[in-house]
Amino acid sequence: MTWSISVDTTTCLGSGICAGSRPDIFQFHGSYAEPITDHLDPDEDVLDLADTCPAAAILIRDESGAELAPRP
Ligand code: SF4
Repeated sequence: MTWSISVDTTTCLGSGICAGSRPDIFQFHGSYAEPITDHLDPDEDVLDLADTCPAAAILIRDESGAELAPRP
């Protein structure tokens, strides 16, 4: 099972939290972050990062396309 990951760079606030916490998943470009890859193995830490992103810009989906995070 793999998940998909994306960052809405139009809403990203450039806090750098995600890239600072998980540089293996995110790269920071000065004013916004992007995922290094479109897919990742299931990783609870990344769900937590998506939940805590101040812009709710990190979107994680499962293989069926169901949204896993950010969680309500
Ligand atoms: S945590 Fe959210 S707002 Fe901060 S850099 Fe990452 S995607 Fe952007």
